[in-house]
Amino acid sequence: MLKVTTLLILILSLALSACEALAEDYAPNTATSGVVDLSQWDPEKDGPVALAGEWEFYWNALLSPSEIDARQSSKYTVAVPGKWTKYTIDELGELGPEGYATFRLTVVLPDGRQILAIPLVNQGSAFSLWIDGRLAGEVGKVGTSKETMKADKWPSTAYFQTDNKTAEFVVQISNFHHRKAGFRNALRLGAPEDIKNEHLQSWFTGSFVAGILFIMGMYHIFLFAYRREEKAALYFGLGCFSLAIRQGLIDPNIANFIFPNLDWSLGLRIEYIMLFIAAPVYVLFLSSLYPKDIPLWLRRVTVAVSLILSGLTVSTNTISLSHVIPAYQIFLGLWLISIVYILHRLLRREREGAKYIVFASGILAIGMILEIAHLANLVDAGNSFIYAFLVFLFVQAIMLSSQFSRSFSNIKALSTDLESSNIHLKESESKYRKLFNESRDIIFIMGTDECAEDVNPACEHILGYTAEELRAKPIMDLVVDPSERDRFLAQLSVDGFINDFETRLRRKNGEIFPAQVTANVRFDDNGDLCGMQGNMRDITARKQAEYEAARASKLEIAAVTDALTKIYNRGFFNQAIADETTHVVRAGSPLSLILLDIDHFKDVNDSHGHTAGDQALIEIASLCQKELRSVDIFARYGGEEFAILMPKVEAKMAFATAERLRKLVQQHRVILPSGTQIALTMSTGVSCMQDDETLDAGQLINQADSALYQSKRNGRNRSSIWSSDSR
Ligand code: GH3
Ligand code: MG
Ligand code: MG
Repeated sequence: MLKVTTLLILILSLALSACEALAEDYAPNTATSGVVDLSQWDPEKDGPVALAGEWEFYWNALLSPSEIDARQSSKYTVAVPGKWTKYTIDELGELGPEGYATFRLTVVLPDGRQILAIPLVNQGSAFSLWIDGRLAGEVGKVGTSKETMKADKWPSTAYFQTDNKTAEFVVQISNFHHRKAGFRNALRLGAPEDIKNEHLQSWFTGSFVAGILFIMGMYHIFLFAYRREEKAALYFGLGCFSLAIRQGLIDPNIANFIFPNLDWSLGLRIEYIMLFIAAPVYVLFLSSLYPKDIPLWLRRVTVAVSLILSGLTVSTNTISLSHVIPAYQIFLGLWLISIVYILHRLLRREREGAKYIVFASGILAIGMILEIAHLANLVDAGNSFIYAFLVFLFVQAIMLSSQFSRSFSNIKALSTDLESSNIHLKESESKYRKLFNESRDIIFIMGTDECAEDVNPACEHILGYTAEELRAKPIMDLVVDPSERDRFLAQLSVDGFINDFETRLRRKNGEIFPAQVTANVRFDDNGDLCGMQGNMRDITARKQAEYEAARASKLEIAAVTDALTKIYNRGFFNQAIADETTHVVRAGSPLSLILLDIDHFKDVNDSHGHTAGDQALIEIASLCQKELRSVDIFARYGGEEFAILMPKVEAKMAFATAERLRKLVQQHRVILPSGTQIALTMSTGVSCMQDDETLDAGQLINQADSALYQSKRNGRNRSSIWSSDSR
């Protein structure tokens, strides 16, 4: 990119310098002692000639050609072009800028009668030209005081016809306005065609440059008007404008064309102001591009100096003003050093576009140095700064277009992104909206007033209220029990959420139903509490199912339980013994059975009543149950008969258990509500099947029963193991 830019800039610079390069003047002879010999000069072939060299000089006199010969005593010879402040004439001493003088040159003309043209170039003040005693042209009005003269610089062209062998050129100059005074620019003489072409060329170059600057200025200022954040565009536009105005003013062709009546000193003042604002505009431009890199003091100093100088420009006379320029040039020198340092820093910090800016600024600096050197008559490089600025402008234009094309691609990419994320957003919005609308649970968003901000249509189905009605009704009022409502809100405020809170809600028709609520508190973007959100579920069906299940399990228990003693009943026991006996056959482990029968129980009933008998049965069942393992199956086998099935227990162990239980019962006392104590005993019979036996459940029971019978027979309150003798 940079290579292309460099190439383009080179081409532009070459083109501009070609425009600038005027044909070298023919220099056959310089004037000596007020005479120049142009007899060998061919205007058509050799081109224009400068009337430079030694002119006659009459100080403090505006002499008409006819008066000059009488004043030969005060004649001096001076170099033209030159400032009279620089003349060293002993008799006159040092000449100040303010004053007036007459110059004379005798030109020996080439042979032949022809018309010649003389452009009346700017001398910085006012002058008039007489050729052969006739006023050929003037710029401004010469005079002997500031009041009587009128400064001007509008150019024109004088013409004269060579009738004689020689021609006498008399130039009157007066200056009361400018620091630089005198015959500053040599008159040039040439064929009218050449002079006209030169004029056209300079007119074209000047308007071309001013036009570019003006349009670019407008463009950037409009850019800023539409995009206020583009401060760089504003400063750049101002820079272009100030240079366009300056160019318009210093190029006499343009100024004369656009402002024919502009006051000379006003023009000069504007020109100076335009010069003074260039530096601050540049610094502000730079700092709007790289805000972090330009120190504040530099901005302040530059702007302050510019303001002071512009103020001076408005308030002082043009002579003092022109003295400010050298001081300003020193300031500019120092300022340039700071700028170079800053640009160097921009490069080091690798700021975006810094290469362009530094390159363009370099060109600008070279242009400025050349211009200053030109003003000091060191080099002939007028307008260097303006051309350098055009290069700067060109670089800026390239930067701008690359920036625009980049922004445009960015915008395109962004808008594609935006479009696709919009589509996604719409899709996901409609997905969630569907979920919300079709959910069978109530989904609600509630404000701090407890009314629904948004609620899905399920509310109508579940509660009977429309979403509209719920927007005006505190949702928490649906909770039937106020204490539950308070508990819900308290937990929510402590934890920020509440899960599966079961409560009862009231429908619009007054019906009450069980519900489960899950909610969490909501915060707005500032982090302030703004309500809660959550869902409500009608759990009537679930509650019903739970109730059914509980009932079924109760029935199941009742089916296997003895109503009085709450231990297993005989039905369950029969099933268990059938299962366990088959298990013994399969697994080969022992299985013991104990039958227990309370002795003389009939007497208890008879003596104390049936209720006391029941109490005794309950207590004995509970007493025994506590002594048994969880795997043992203890059941009420008959009226006052119990049975214990003991898996993996051998006969001996079962007998020990039977004995232990028997003794416990013997020690136990049933205490009736009346306070009467009843002592009881019981008899037991134990049977056991081993892996090597093949008994069935019935046989096992019979054997235990036989053993029990044996215990009864032997006197009760004892235990017996079945043996073949038991029968
Ligand atoms: P034995 O020592 O020979 O076993 O004498 P016994 O009186 O205990 O035996 P019997 O079979 O003659 O009497 C059993 C009594 O148990 C008869 C009945 O009144 C009583 N009985 C049975 N079931 C219940 C009951 O559920 N509650 C009450 N209170 N008594 C019951
Ligand atoms: Mg009995
Ligand atoms: Mg009994």
